[in-house]
Amino acid sequence: MITIPSKAAEIIKNGEIVAIPTETVYGLAADAFNIQAVLKTFEAKGRPADNPLIIHISNLDQLKRIAINLPEIALTLANSFWPGPLTLVLQKHSNVPDIVTGGLPTVAVRMPDHPLTLEMIHLSGPVTAPSANRSGNPSPTRAEHVQNDYQNSVPVLNGGISRIGIESTVLDLTGDQPVILRPGAITAEIIKNKTGISVSVLENRDNKNRTKSPGTRYTHYKPVATVEWLESETKINDTNTYYIFHSDLIFKPAPNIFYYKGDFDSMARDLYDHFRTADHLSFSHIKIEPLPDLNVSPLIHALIDRISKARGN
Ligand code: AMP
Ligand code: MG
Repeated sequence: MITIPSKAAEIIKNGEIVAIPTETVYGLAADAFNIQAVLKTFEAKGRPADNPLIIHISNLDQLKRIAINLPEIALTLANSFWPGPLTLVLQKHSNVPDIVTGGLPTVAVRMPDHPLTLEMIHLSGPVTAPSANRSGNPSPTRAEHVQNDYQNSVPVLNGGISRIGIESTVLDLTGDQPVILRPGAITAEIIKNKTGISVSVLENRDNKNRTKSPGTRYTHYKPVATVEWLESETKINDTNTYYIFHSDLIFKPAPNIFYYKGDFDSMARDLYDHFRTADHLSFSHIKIEPLPDLNVSPLIHALIDRISKARGN
């Protein structure tokens, strides 16, 4: 475990990989311009190399080395939401190796909101950082999750618990209209309210569009336990089931029953940790209370998306 950003930056500059904290989830960082280093992240994760990576930057000057023909709204969005959980898909600069973008002519980039990681990138330059889980596990939201996945073979810059706990919103700016390819903490409504920019939302169920957001082909988020939405008449008494409620239903307190009392921020922050804990304790099922309307919290759409992926659809 590392606690000093300059130490992590040194690892990056030596062409090695290091796990880094962000406000969304932990990432597995490599020098974005070093093909061999980037290959090490795919190898460590056991992830198919055709899955494009997000480049993480610490200032706007770095953007010019990564993307070209920046539309004006890219700068408006960057100024409004960076550092923060919004990834922009832009036209790729020829500097960026093809391995980073899975051969696509576009590149995904964001500025993460974590002081240790921003300080590291300031010293190391831009890094690619896919979520630091081994492929098939939920994204890590704590340094310990990364240590468990790699049996301590990957150094981790310890930045505590990820504040948001769910991956960034991915917004494609390379088409006729801005489109959200992956829902996250920053919604179309938040973007509209803060910048006046209208963006549409890609429906994940629309198979035709899946190639637009290549990562959605892979099941990143699936725990071993079966994840299901709780049916209203289900009895809450199975000791092999891990129960998660967003509301405040009054059942007898038990170590396998969790209530969020309408606190969707905390629910999102804890979701992947619950998946990992349930697997660690060999629960066979995880049952989650169906979520309310999208307008109840900005995180509802992202929660439904990640829980649906964990269910396998
Ligand atoms: P993560 O798994 O959190 O590292 O996020 C990477 C995801 O960002 C990918 O799985 C894609 O969904 C998305 N992404 C990255 N690069 C691109 C790109 N050039 N075009 C569209 N989506 C991208
Ligand atoms: Mg991932």
